[in-house]
Amino acid sequence: MPMELKPAEVTDVLKKELKRYRSSLKVESVGTVLTVGDGVARVYGLDQCMMSEILEFPNNVFGMALNLEQDNVGAVLFGAEQELKEGDEVRTTGRLISVPTGEKLLGRVVNALGQPLDGRGPIDVPVEEYYPCEGRAPSVIERQPVTEPMQTGIKAIDAMIPIGRGQRELIIGDRQTGKTALCVDAMINQKDTDVYCIYVAIGQKLSTVKSVTKTLEEAGVMHKCTVVSAPASDQASMQFLAPFSGAAMGERLRDEGKHVLIIYDDLYKHALAWRQVSLLLRRPPGREAFPGDIFNLHSRLLERAAKLSDKAPEISSQFKAGGGSMTALPVVETQDADVSAYIPTNVISITDGQIFLETDLFNAGQRPAVNVGISVSRVGGNAQIPAMKKVAGGLRISLAQFRELQAFAQFGSDLDAATKQQLTRGERLAELLKQGQYVPMSVEKQVVSVYAGTSGTMDDIPTSAVSKFESGLMEFVETKYPQLFEKIREDKKLTDEIKELLDQSINEFKNGFNA
Ligand code: ATP
Ligand code: MG
Repeated sequence: MPMELKPAEVTDVLKKELKRYRSSLKVESVGTVLTVGDGVARVYGLDQCMMSEILEFPNNVFGMALNLEQDNVGAVLFGAEQELKEGDEVRTTGRLISVPTGEKLLGRVVNALGQPLDGRGPIDVPVEEYYPCEGRAPSVIERQPVTEPMQTGIKAIDAMIPIGRGQRELIIGDRQTGKTALCVDAMINQKDTDVYCIYVAIGQKLSTVKSVTKTLEEAGVMHKCTVVSAPASDQASMQFLAPFSGAAMGERLRDEGKHVLIIYDDLYKHALAWRQVSLLLRRPPGREAFPGDIFNLHSRLLERAAKLSDKAPEISSQFKAGGGSMTALPVVETQDADVSAYIPTNVISITDGQIFLETDLFNAGQRPAVNVGISVSRVGGNAQIPAMKKVAGGLRISLAQFRELQAFAQFGSDLDAATKQQLTRGERLAELLKQGQYVPMSVEKQVVSVYAGTSGTMDDIPTSAVSKFESGLMEFVETKYPQLFEKIREDKKLTDEIKELLDQSINEFKNGFNA
């Protein structure tokens, strides 16, 4: 029997539905401020509020919901909180906190919300091109192993602690050990590569941010860099948000198949900012008074660094192209070289290796002050070009042995010939790995330089002349055997032909050098 339609019943249902629809839209999207101060607010009556949703306060102040409690919402504030008072209206926006992304951000200095700070006009990015600050880390199947090198241009790193695209490598050390300098040099080295850089300054002095920006400009790489600045003078909420904003900007490029190097300078100060925010939100403190979720917070951040699978776009529409990568260099400052403190151990366990910078080495003139013995890269070795892998093979052990013997030799006891030889070699190698600031070296040059050291060519040259020998050798090869650099760059392997050419050019130069 065909069903009869009863118009009255249908309209009745429709009316009811419409009524429900309207009222559900209105449900508790407006709340009132209960308390406000110290950069946080408690808001009553936002039952439908989402985690990290943007909240709109009067006077153009925005907040981010962080504590969803039974009868109130705790939020951090961005902007002039002095103007807020108890009883003010608060609206949910239905949007999660997000920042503008894309190529318009390149060459710019922005704050944690992606607003320009460099006085070069507004950044017009349509809302569709905003990325959420709390981006989703790519899943296992959306990734592929790290196999491409991320050249930093720093001999001590590229030769012994190589970093691959998509890797997370921690830079750790006490204050004033050259952490920032190392990261800046790695960015400068991307001048002629296809890698974009994002430098996130958290809790730094404004003068540091300024000088990094100026250095990047002078080196001619600023056009492919974004500086996200949340200096010490910023609200803790801004400092907390900055690395997540930077990551969102990097993700946009990564998802388009591009390559990004992102530097978080530094996560210790980030942890301090999060501790401040958390204590104000009355979250229970844990070890060293840091909130219990600090490990999760940093994991969430660092898991977003990835090398995407070529098939990623088939798996999720988030990815416009496959094969993109985001390499993260988080920096952590230690106190008195204590790497077993809470934040250092956390970040060490999240990352794929660490580069230790030491005050003693730094003061002894060994700069970059990398302690080779305890620095590691757990995945980058696969990404090193074979030629470098070959010539740098014995470098690490030679240096480690040298440091050990050095302590012995100080007692001035008689040393056998083999030990003396090890000391001689180690001294030359350590000297060879010294590198000034702002002079990153291309990988083909590094191969020649490291080969000259590890093959023992420099053993009979005074240590003080090593750097002169190196620069002379580079010039010599550049003018007389330019094909050597080219061949290493192209073949990437240490073929017999290249080896012959290496030996020939180095010996020829050395003869002239001695004379
Ligand atoms: P902070 O703890 O203050 O952030 P940091 O560890 O980031 O310090 P930098 O600011 O990078 O250290 O460097 C400290 C000083 O050492 C700077 O004056 C810098 O110019 C100098 N320096 C760093 N690396 C080198 C280098 N390879 N050669 C010469 N000088 C260097
Ligand atoms: Mg620094």
